[in-house]
Amino acid sequence: MSSKDHDYRTELYTITKDGDRKWVYPTHVSGFWMRTRTVVVYALMALYVIAPWLVYEGHQAIHLDIPHRRFVFFGATFWATDLQLLFFVLACLALSLFFFTALLGRVWCGWACPETVFLEFVYRPIERLIEGGPVARMKLDNAPWTTQKILKKGTKYLTYIVISWFLASTLLAYFVGREELISMMLRPPIENLSTFCITLFLMGVLLFQFGWFREQFCTALCPYARFQSVLMDSNSIQVGYDPERGEPRGKLNKKNPNPDQGDCIDCGLCVRVCPTGIDIRNGLQLECIQCTACIDACDSIMDKIDKPRGLIRYDTEESLLHGKSTRVLRPRIIVYSTLLVIAFAALLYNFSSRQVTDVKIVRKSGENVYSMISKDTVANHFSLRLSNKSDKEILYHIKLKGSGRKTKLITPINPVKIEGGTSMPLPIFIHFPTSSMNSGKMSVSVSVTSSNNQEYTRDVTLLGPEK
Ligand code: SF4
Ligand code: SF4
Repeated sequence: MSSKDHDYRTELYTITKDGDRKWVYPTHVSGFWMRTRTVVVYALMALYVIAPWLVYEGHQAIHLDIPHRRFVFFGATFWATDLQLLFFVLACLALSLFFFTALLGRVWCGWACPETVFLEFVYRPIERLIEGGPVARMKLDNAPWTTQKILKKGTKYLTYIVISWFLASTLLAYFVGREELISMMLRPPIENLSTFCITLFLMGVLLFQFGWFREQFCTALCPYARFQSVLMDSNSIQVGYDPERGEPRGKLNKKNPNPDQGDCIDCGLCVRVCPTGIDIRNGLQLECIQCTACIDACDSIMDKIDKPRGLIRYDTEESLLHGKSTRVLRPRIIVYSTLLVIAFAALLYNFSSRQVTDVKIVRKSGENVYSMISKDTVANHFSLRLSNKSDKEILYHIKLKGSGRKTKLITPINPVKIEGGTSMPLPIFIHFPTSSMNSGKMSVSVSVTSSNNQEYTRDVTLLGPEK
């Protein structure tokens, strides 16, 4: 694809003026960055595949049990009531994205985004293996439907289906639990129709994305691609072309070298390797996913023509365009990192002060606030809700604390056993003498002590007749 017949400021490289799709057939490139990315990306993929199989304290290490609103992370169990932790986790993730984008540009896109990870390191290698290099793939796509084309396309999509099924099932294992997933797989689909349909749907999404839609997601749909320019500035590190060194570009003429010519020999390899089809020499563009393929491509050309590497490199716009050194400490870096530290500290504080038991006492509604048991004894009715957020059964003892002998707590079950991950409402009645009230009120403390020796105390106000 040539960049000369294209206005990169107003048009997408992969869409024609008439709105048709222009297919990208990127050339595979190897080099330092490709090797480094391969190590990082395969480590991430291994983590994704292995994580549901990790066992910690006898349970699946990561289990997002949505129907039971129970989320397990390496022995810590969280419930829907721990929503404030989710807020801090999301805040940390968002601020990390802001911080790293301001510092390192779209490093997420090129190195960790599932779109890049699976497309460039799973689906495209399979395509290369079956259909060949970019020229062979282009020819095959434009060729009529012969037996050979049907066989190649059929083999490719069959392999894609198997891979997509595996990736979709792995994702489901995080939610339904790996043992449940295996048992579902061994039973007929009709017995688990909803799970089966979700797997098919996820498979369909993966097939559509990695088999057909591909770079269009990054260039036309991804919201992050759109707001990253707000997060970055001219001191953010990104993949860029050095126009000072490269321009004026021109074809290599070994016999009559032009002394005024820059180092770019206009070979076009940086464009041919680009998975989004863009020309990095036009400067920072929304479509660039910072995959580093053009760095490796250009370095290989520089090696061949005996020029120093780095005509395309990781650098800042300030350095590439104005020769200035990179300023790391900038207002936005300071603001994002400070907010990130605050959010992380708040997450740690909330996590460490989180209690495994939640105790709530509310006055029973829809009744008189008090009732007279005898001439000088009053009763108040409350509802006590005990939530056991741990994974194990806990026994709770309920009693009054710091009240007189004549004040009594009455509840149908005491002590009460509560299963891990469940909660139980209990009616409690407190009987007390009218003589202990002051202006029709009296304060007492209800104490709940768990079998693991944690005590939870809640103050309640008792009401009775005013004398
Ligand atoms: S311009 Fe370079 S870094 Fe950006 S997407 Fe294309 S090949 Fe990757
Ligand atoms: S690969 Fe390097 S030399 Fe070739 S066109 Fe791109 S920038 Fe110029």
